[in-house]
Amino acid sequence: MAYDRDNIFAKILRDEIPSDRVYEDGEFVAFRDIAPSAPVHLIVIPRAEPPTSPAELTDADVGLAGRLVVTASKIAAQQGLAGSGYRLVLNCGEHAGQTVRHLHLHILGGGPLGPVA
Ligand code: AMP
Repeated sequence: MAYDRDNIFAKILRDEIPSDRVYEDGEFVAFRDIAPSAPVHLIVIPRAEPPTSPAELTDADVGLAGRLVVTASKIAAQQGLAGSGYRLVLNCGEHAGQTVRHLHLHILGGGPLGPVA
């Protein structure tokens, strides 16, 4: 699927719509989810135009995917979640309910999350 430069996360990156940013570096930005599913619900996104979903990742994206997870763990620790635990989620496609076609990782925590499914 072609990348849509007007997707919500692209607009957040360009500051065309506001976000509550909690982390940024040269490669990633993290902000609070506007409709949180947990007491702490953060979204981590690559700055550069990324694959639209996990299904679009290729061998060339191994570094990106690895740094995304490592960065999410770092952010979770900064948010005080490391001791109590948290969940990292990558939604892919319709059945997972993916709504934004810009690769992103959810960090969920701050309380018991219940079973995955
Ligand atoms: P997904 O369902 O995996 O595509 O996740 C997209 C997430 O983006 C959802 O959890 C939405 O609540 C969240 N979201 C949508 N618009 C915004 C926004 N303007 N600011 C922050 N989070 C958003």
